[in-house]
Amino acid sequence: MNEPLDETSAARLHDAAMMLEEAFPDYRCLRCRSDRFLLRLLVPQGADADVFETIETTCKRCGMVETHRTRLLADAILSEHLPGSSDV
Ligand SMILES: [Zn+2]
Repeated sequence: MNEPLDETSAARLHDAAMMLEEAFPDYRCLRCRSDRFLLRLLVPQGADADVFETIETTCKRCGMVETHRTRLLADAILSEHLPGSSDV
């Protein structure tokens, strides 16, 4: 198999995207309400790297960029303090 991305990066991006989907099932652009995005995982170097790992979504329609720290997003999902995790 020849993967264009290394497997670890691809898996981490996939995990982060799944977290975003779980936290916000109807994830839409805050500006134009589009649901089509480019996704990118930003992995910093250094001691606090895991805290500052970030998933970035770029709206394909208007270019609005939104970012979430993946560690905090995971914590929020576990503590069920997000709208997507309750049965409203
Ligand atoms: Zn947009």
